[in-house]
Amino acid sequence: MKKILLIEGDGIGPEVVGETKKIIDFFNKNSDKKFTTESALLGGIAFDKTGTPFPQETLKLASEADATLLGAVGGPKWESLEYKFRPERGLLGIRKELNLFANLRPAKVFNALANSSTLKREIVEDLDIMIVRELTGDLYFGEPRYVKTLDDGSKQGVNTMTYNSKEVERIARVSFDLAKIRNKKLCSVDKANVIETTEMWREVVSDIGAKEYPDINLSHMYVDNASMQLVRNPKQFDVIVTGNMFGDILSDTASMLTGSLGMLPSASLGEKQNNGKQHALYEPVHGSAPDIAGKNIANPLATILSFSMMLRYSFNYIDEANKLDQAVENVLNNGVRTADIALSGQKFVSCTEMSDKVIEELKKLFN
Ligand code: NAD
Repeated sequence: MKKILLIEGDGIGPEVVGETKKIIDFFNKNSDKKFTTESALLGGIAFDKTGTPFPQETLKLASEADATLLGAVGGPKWESLEYKFRPERGLLGIRKELNLFANLRPAKVFNALANSSTLKREIVEDLDIMIVRELTGDLYFGEPRYVKTLDDGSKQGVNTMTYNSKEVERIARVSFDLAKIRNKKLCSVDKANVIETTEMWREVVSDIGAKEYPDINLSHMYVDNASMQLVRNPKQFDVIVTGNMFGDILSDTASMLTGSLGMLPSASLGEKQNNGKQHALYEPVHGSAPDIAGKNIANPLATILSFSMMLRYSFNYIDEANKLDQAVENVLNNGVRTADIALSGQKFVSCTEMSDKVIEELKKLFN
């Protein structure tokens, strides 16, 4: 029995998490894999109810859970709050407290939606790549960091790019392990020609590859070239691993190859502990979409696909994950669309109808 923590959050969060709960219930009824669920508050709603966007109770429940599924946080209602009370502090807080250092961002193009991409169909058709972004180091957390006024009255801003070899080793291992269960190809992205920190990154990744993963085809690429290659010929990649800042940019570029924000899942993983437990947070890439909240028109597929990642990466329930991915693909092949992925003039279904359609397809696959 796996324990899942559900965090709905704000905006469309309750809708998309609610629809995914229906999928979890389906597995409970129709498969030999069983889940219990609990709920917790995070973000704006947590602030409204408890005075903080990241209640201690949420951290406790997330620490105890086998995995956490989050909708999204934020919205205009909380934008003018003091920084520490803003919903985003809850999100950053949970990632930090659970030490989620590995961010997995798949960019998979469902062929039924290939025309939604801004790139030509032949460039993106069948695309299925995984970007692994280091999430707890680099310029985003390095010290010193400040902006100060100099004697001549001008200002100076300083941020520090820093990694130690242990941090590089652990993200490299996550990425090599992913390459192992995919197409055995890993590309590490750096700027080793100019930035010493990333030169060390390249050496460490190469060492781990040679010593521990000789069967994985490892390549290295400078980040400027990687950004070009992602839009020129993205299918040359399988797994890409990179640091926090380069990963922030490249993962957004890669996700837009698919052309649809409502379809993009993600996972953030922590370190494997001695008892075998590994903290993990699964969430759609999109935000809380306040403009469409409460209208039952959000696309729940990014959250449903995030649950599929949970099945695959936290629980190793590969067959169930494959079936769920297949059910989503079948629904799209059947022409079912929510408003965000419908072509102009095309009929579209509601958020609830979309998950019902996924469940209909799952039923066929489980029979
Ligand atoms: P957004 O992703 O919420 O929305 C961007 C656009 O995409 C909107 O037009 C929205 O309607 C649409 N959209 C997003 N998800 C959709 C879905 N599932 N189905 C259909 N349409 C969808 O980004 P934003 O508007 O920049 O941010 C809104 C709020 O979300 C802000 O408060 C922001 O801080 C927050 N945010 C949270 C997260 C997170 O929780 N991880 C991530 C990004 C933004």
